[in-house]
Amino acid sequence: MSLLESLRSSSTRNPLIKEVKDFYRHLLSKGARILFSWVPSHVGITGNELADKSAKSATEFLTRPLVYADVRSAVNQWCHCQWQEKWNMETNNKLHVIKPVLSHWVTKLNRRCDVVLTRLRIGHTRLTHKYLLFAESPPTCSHCGDILTVKHILTDCVAVDRRRLRYFCSSSFDLSFLLGQIPHFNLFMYLKDIGVFHDI
Ligand SMILES: [Zn+2]
Repeated sequence: MSLLESLRSSSTRNPLIKEVKDFYRHLLSKGARILFSWVPSHVGITGNELADKSAKSATEFLTRPLVYADVRSAVNQWCHCQWQEKWNMETNNKLHVIKPVLSHWVTKLNRRCDVVLTRLRIGHTRLTHKYLLFAESPPTCSHCGDILTVKHILTDCVAVDRRRLRYFCSSSFDLSFLLGQIPHFNLFMYLKDIGVFHDI
């Protein structure tokens, strides 16, 4: 299918595709009629099984140089798969629940909101961790007195249950609901309401 799409594209720089296109034009000029067709499976169709066999044989002995873009794309894909497989095993990592599938974060917020969102996602904020720099005791929640963590602020503090319900229409959810690929629309309003936005 991708080959057919490449053949249809007028902007390809792939020399193999250009070669196929030139040959196609040559055959047309000789009066040939050619129909390109995508066959999802080669099984049971003699002509296609021969084509499949020929295609496989081409991977055994490469007699022409590879196109750089094709190699780069294949290597990138392989690296990404390895990375994802490793990440799938990291179920105890606190970031895993927020981002189980590796991909770029969408960043279209303003700078301050991006900073706040990133700190919440990694679980390290000024509010919850600055005590380490000043050799103080861990901070406690001003609403309920428990030890203050990002998870406590966002999902666990029972003292702000009603405000969570108001902003998120629920008081029981996990961190990925608020901090996942698309952060919850009301996240920053909630943080401002409970008085912690500017301390993160
Ligand atoms: Zn609390």
